[in-house]
Amino acid sequence: MSSASQEREARVVDAAPKQLYINGQWRDARQGRVLEVRDPSTGSLLCTVANASPEDGRDALEAAQAAQQGFAAMPPRQRATILMRAFELMHERKDDLALLMTLEMGKPLADAAGEVVYAAEFFRHFAEEATRISGGYQDAPTGNARFLIRQEPVGPSLLITPWNFPLAMGTRKLGPAIAAGCTSVLKPAELTPLSMLALAQILEDAGAPPGVVNIVVTSTAGQVMEPLIRSGIARKLSFTGSTQVGKKLLEQCADKVLRTSMELGGNAAFVVFEDADVDKAVDGAMLAKMRNSGEACTAANRIFIHRSVLQEFSEKLAQRMGELKVGRGVDEGVQVGPMVDATQLDKVKELVDDAVGAGAEVVVGGEVAPGDGYFYQPTVLRDVPREARMWTEEIFGPVAPLTPFDSEKEVVDLVNDTEYGLVNYVYTNDLNRALRVAESIESGMVGLNQGVVSNPAAPFGGMKESGLGREGGDTGIDEFLETKYIGIAMA
Ligand code: NAP
Repeated sequence: MSSASQEREARVVDAAPKQLYINGQWRDARQGRVLEVRDPSTGSLLCTVANASPEDGRDALEAAQAAQQGFAAMPPRQRATILMRAFELMHERKDDLALLMTLEMGKPLADAAGEVVYAAEFFRHFAEEATRISGGYQDAPTGNARFLIRQEPVGPSLLITPWNFPLAMGTRKLGPAIAAGCTSVLKPAELTPLSMLALAQILEDAGAPPGVVNIVVTSTAGQVMEPLIRSGIARKLSFTGSTQVGKKLLEQCADKVLRTSMELGGNAAFVVFEDADVDKAVDGAMLAKMRNSGEACTAANRIFIHRSVLQEFSEKLAQRMGELKVGRGVDEGVQVGPMVDATQLDKVKELVDDAVGAGAEVVVGGEVAPGDGYFYQPTVLRDVPREARMWTEEIFGPVAPLTPFDSEKEVVDLVNDTEYGLVNYVYTNDLNRALRVAESIESGMVGLNQGVVSNPAAPFGGMKESGLGREGGDTGIDEFLETKYIGIAMA
């Protein structure tokens, strides 16, 4: 690494905000606690960040509560203007945001820059939605009354985000919350707080009033968030993370009957029929598997290939996977970064070893990659048996497990044989089959001949244990709105 790039990394980390953002103020944690942020490609310390206690969390929620009424009364056009300005600032600061994200999370710089653009798009999308919140006026069936229907902000909202998309998972919640007129307290993942704090700076610069957005970073998520969930002040929880934590939070939300949006884990299938274009299917699999180095809820976790094309698909995919450049995300040409931490790397290793022990064949990869950071080789496994743990557990790493199938009915049953239902991918050139299979699949999203479904203008979300509600699209704002009906008697 050149000293110029080292200097730039240090400059970007130095300039990044590292305090809590509460009521429009940047401040240390009340008890002066800090937490460490590390670079997963080297394991070295990047910086320390204020580490909130439950009292700091309470301050943040009280600030959101105090700001709620005034923000709800702010004209929608003004709320839209804040979001549009934030969208522009994200583009202006794209290079620094991307570098910061790569340093704290590990993804290659090009992927990080792509995420900044994707994340910013949620602000533009919801800036447009803010001025289109609709209502209604209708006759009662008896004719002697009228119904006036309006949408109101649900109120102070708690937002919890994961480490894998440190910016986009935040803008996907803050965009609709701001558009709807809700104030919020956002808790980013402990592993990746810097991106979200930089985003708070952008929202402040874009004119978000004090208390509208509050950011609480903590190493004790449960201790800080549970009292807020049970406080009776918050009216909404929007969570993105694992199904396991999501279930626990749903129980906590029952106490005060909070509105919830849950974007949880996935176990996506990627299906290639015998009539598919195999080269396009390989391109799609590279995206569905390797976006974010495999650390995505949408990542293809079970890859079903029709037996007649398995050999061709397996060879072509293994070649592409074997050619990927693994390394520090900041280095030129790197396509696969490290896993986010040692726990995640150990999990990937364990799942591969378990599958191989159960009889899977390693076509390429299959080992931890050398280096100080948490690297795993891009891996293709063949004939992964059903008893392997990776059939039921999210791999969250660069590992593609292939399994043959023989009939449409068999593969649809296999795809649906999971408690998850976030996304599945289907490759076929037969239109009837494509629609038949897409309609039979139990998931909130289906990629037909495409390996990525994420789009701010489309409704993102899961069925079954993959979640509740949808983010983005023209219904994403509804997650932060309540419907009020006013009955009017007619004399
Ligand atoms: P996670 O362990 O569930 O954590 C997600 C967030 O919840 C983090 O901010 C975490 O904080 C916080 N958290 C953990 N325990 C908590 C508690 N008791 N109370 C309150 N907050 C708590 O998930 P992750 O490992 O960060 O992310 C990976 C998971 O997210 C995968 O399952 C993936 O599929 C899912 N995901 C889903 C989507 C989707 O849209 N459906 C998108 C991205 C990721 P700390 O990290 O600080 O502990």
